[in-house]
Amino acid sequence: MTDRVMSCPVSSCTYEEWVLPNDEDGSFSELWNHVVRRHTGGDGTEASTLMALVEAEER
Ligand SMILES: [Zn+2]
Repeated sequence: MTDRVMSCPVSSCTYEEWVLPNDEDGSFSELWNHVVRRHTGGDGTEASTLMALVEAEER
């Protein structure tokens, strides 16, 4: 079994969200919250642009 993670789309940030089995949407939401809080100052439009870059990856 491999681990899956979603990395923060901000290249200078090392934050990663673990993707739980069968809960990719939940992990995406958690990462979205991180981006809004830490990177966009609450700007949902900017967050959606960044989050469009996010893909789950296996490692
Ligand atoms: Zn980040």
